[in-house]
Amino acid sequence: MPELPDLLHVLARLREQLLDRAVEAERVRDPVVLRCLVRGNLSLVLGRTLRDVLRRGHFLIFRFEGLDLAVNPMLAGRFRLAAPGEPDEPALGFAIEFRPRGDEPGLELRYLDEKSMGKAYLGAEGDWSAIPAFHSGGIDVLSPEFTAERFVSLLRHRKDQVRVFLLDKKALDAIGNAYADEVLFEAGVHPKTFCRRLSHDDGVRLHGAIVKVIREAVDEVAARDAPIEEKVRDFLKVRRKETCPRCQSKLRVAGVKGMDAWYCPRCQPETRPGLVDFRKTGK
Ligand SMILES: [Zn+2]
Repeated sequence: MPELPDLLHVLARLREQLLDRAVEAERVRDPVVLRCLVRGNLSLVLGRTLRDVLRRGHFLIFRFEGLDLAVNPMLAGRFRLAAPGEPDEPALGFAIEFRPRGDEPGLELRYLDEKSMGKAYLGAEGDWSAIPAFHSGGIDVLSPEFTAERFVSLLRHRKDQVRVFLLDKKALDAIGNAYADEVLFEAGVHPKTFCRRLSHDDGVRLHGAIVKVIREAVDEVAARDAPIEEKVRDFLKVRRKETCPRCQSKLRVAGVKGMDAWYCPRCQPETRPGLVDFRKTGK
């Protein structure tokens, strides 16, 4: 699943490569992916110029003159830029070929999705009302509005575990599975801690950890400048890792509401009674 740093990198590259190009051709290989909210099909974009690419939550919106194509990649979807005529990938959902721009050759935007879970909605410009789960309204964690006070007040009203709260797209835009582990590690908070057990200072520390982890990841992913179909994750500190980079303890995996959470039992001590305290087991 693309996370915010991945999406921002993809967005920047797509804008750089595709804006102000007109559509030469389109093809749909997996009709399950595409939903038309207006009468017609993807051929409606033919001849139109791509004026903008926007992000709303996990959606990327391609704005053609008068038409928006809003894509939610879900679990496995990703974009790739290819030269027109390159052989199709087995996971190809649809492709849009753009005309040359200045002395740059034509370029094809491909949407790939092994699981066919992602969705692309073609509709009138700005009319996103019929799109299910469209940008669920969480506060952008990179915006100036995302202050420590705002975060602490959100936290105070939660009854769930902190990791569940971090992943709630209605509250925060947006932290996914991978960065939730990194944020909690940075803040020294156990993933199963209930929000109500966190003090004001814990909340402020957690807010600082979100901003630091996501900003650093945005910079790192942008600096690597990998092809947009790749997710750069090798710089993560705890997610899918063996050993804590701070104290060298063996990292553990906890199930939090059906999701696997990686954490360090020493740096993120358990605060709930009745669960194993790994600090006392000598492991
Ligand atoms: Zn540790």
